[in-house]
Amino acid sequence: MQEYEIVIIGAGPAGLQGAIHAARRRHKVLLLGKLESSALYHAHIENYFGFKEKIDGKELLLAGLDQALKFGTTYLPEDVIKLELSENGDFFIETEKGSSIKSLALILALGVKKKKKIFKNEDAFVGKGVSYCVDCDAWFYRGKKVAVLGDGSAAIHGALTLTKFASRVFLIPLKKMESLHEEIKDRPVEVVSKKPIDIVGEEEVRGLKLEDEQIIEVDGIFIELGAKGPLELLGPLGVELDPETFNYVKVDRKMQTNIPGLFACGDLTGPPLQLAKAVGEGCIAGISASDYVKNLKISS
Ligand SMILES: Cc1cc2nc3c(=O)[nH]c(=O)nc-3n(C[C@H](O)[C@H](O)[C@H](O)COP(=O)(O)OP(=O)(O)OC[C@H]3O[C@@H](n4cnc5c(N)ncnc54)[C@H](O)[C@@H]3O)c2cc1C
Repeated sequence: MQEYEIVIIGAGPAGLQGAIHAARRRHKVLLLGKLESSALYHAHIENYFGFKEKIDGKELLLAGLDQALKFGTTYLPEDVIKLELSENGDFFIETEKGSSIKSLALILALGVKKKKKIFKNEDAFVGKGVSYCVDCDAWFYRGKKVAVLGDGSAAIHGALTLTKFASRVFLIPLKKMESLHEEIKDRPVEVVSKKPIDIVGEEEVRGLKLEDEQIIEVDGIFIELGAKGPLELLGPLGVELDPETFNYVKVDRKMQTNIPGLFACGDLTGPPLQLAKAVGEGCIAGISASDYVKNLKISS
């Protein structure tokens, strides 16, 4: 188990700016996430303070990372697949490659996720058998049959978690997964190698139709497409969302969420979805997390 004072999830402008401010205050800081998944990576910016000419988003991210590293941030370009809060207020973080991390404070700078649709009729079944969050919804499928669709370790992890609840677990890889058979060896996961083409059901999910027209009967379909989107990841923590949209995390002016020691910044907290706002909020979150850790140490 690796231990840090401040962990920041998200390597976009908000997370990088948070890392710069927290690390400059001499905390032990870890930054998680992939630069290339930032909304800024493919953007060209013309409205950011101080730059008269168009700036390349990728270059800005690389420069920001260099700066964060220079001040002592540790960087791990991995996606987080699980977050937990212990009774004494520490945060536990698990990454796709199996790193286990403990932190006193946590900054969420996850951006917003555009969800890819797999099935035309997917939206009609959300909450009626289609779920994007194994950790949030596995409990509802005790003794039932479920299918996990997806790629990468998130799908494997999801299927293995569901074996503790469901009576049968089908795993349907949407891409070739190199380590699949090794990871599910001796575990009750049934791999289906045919492509799914449709969700079967009227009011609720009843099954999945495969490319050869065969139907596998399931009560639940979990869609796990790699990096968890903010809401899937935050579900188990009980983070309060913006009551109007339920799409963004609610924060106060210090970027503090409803959970002590948990801060959020950038696109994740809502519009305007702009670089300047992400950087400004990242700065505040970095400073607020630092103050939180200092106060914890004084009172302990
Ligand atoms: C095409 C395009 C053009 C744009 N043009 C402009 C413009 O001209 N001006 C402007 O101001 N803004 C512009 N924007 C918006 C701007 O890029 C965003 O507002 C900004 O990048 C938000 O920063 P962020 O750090 O909050 O999120 P992002 O930059 O999206 O970063 C999110 C980070 O979280 C990480 N993450 C997500 N899930 C996980 C997980 N489970 N585990 C680990 N890490 C995770 C991602 O990998 C990424 O590193 C544009 C955006 C796009 C897409």
